[in-house]
Amino acid sequence: MKYTQLDIAPTISSLLGFEIPDKDGITIKEIEAYCADKNTDQILLIIVDGIGAALYKKLDGALAQLQALSDDGLFFEIHSLPPRITTPNIGTILTGYAPEHHRLYEVADTFYTPVRSILEIASDNGIKSGIVIELLGAKAMLNRVDLAIGVENLHGIIDYDRRITDLALKAFSLEGIRLLMIHLRAIDNCAHHYAKTWDDFTFSARTIDENFERICRCLCRPTLILVTSDHPIHVEKWAHLEDNNADVPLIASYVNVATRPKKGKNGSRLLG
Ligand SMILES: [Zn+2]
Repeated sequence: MKYTQLDIAPTISSLLGFEIPDKDGITIKEIEAYCADKNTDQILLIIVDGIGAALYKKLDGALAQLQALSDDGLFFEIHSLPPRITTPNIGTILTGYAPEHHRLYEVADTFYTPVRSILEIASDNGIKSGIVIELLGAKAMLNRVDLAIGVENLHGIIDYDRRITDLALKAFSLEGIRLLMIHLRAIDNCAHHYAKTWDDFTFSARTIDENFERICRCLCRPTLILVTSDHPIHVEKWAHLEDNNADVPLIASYVNVATRPKKGKNGSRLLG
């Protein structure tokens, strides 16, 4: 079964026990089965900007913690939908609607849209939901979810991702959020603004992996972590890294506070 970005929101809604009206996606049965015998107190959806399935594999050891999560859980290569641009594709992931259905093409579109994301529907169903994202995106979600935190990129993208991660951990521990979406941008930012060699990508990936490491170490309650991307690299100069593949990774992994996935020195998992 080949899944797409449309299927993430319906899967989350199924796990949390409510329906998305008129959705275009389907539920991912493997994730439902994976979670069936687990106590999932909270769900963290992490969108890593601009990493396709081919790039994910090439980054190998630079994403060791993410790969440890994948080894412990489930890994899918899912189809990314056109136009493969950040805002509409995050719209697809968060709504379960195709772009021509959600019509969220620019951040400005998200301010007054009648289309409700999985976060808003969860909140309406009494499930505390939140988002930690760039400032304008968070403003658009104010009063639509229980917690919308906007982060400004004041000191570079690595600092930005780190603060997003810190605030995500606080949202869970201090605010009792049960469904949270965050957006980490270092790899896409690298491709757009400063990449000169492959080493720049592995450097950026390592900074993101440090955030995964902190998330796995600091979560206080059993958590289903879903990690995916909005689109493969769309910067022409680096598009070759994706091998003409439009798939993005989807990782579903359960972090139990008692049995956290461990990372070895070379990215391999330690036993015990
Ligand atoms: Zn993007």
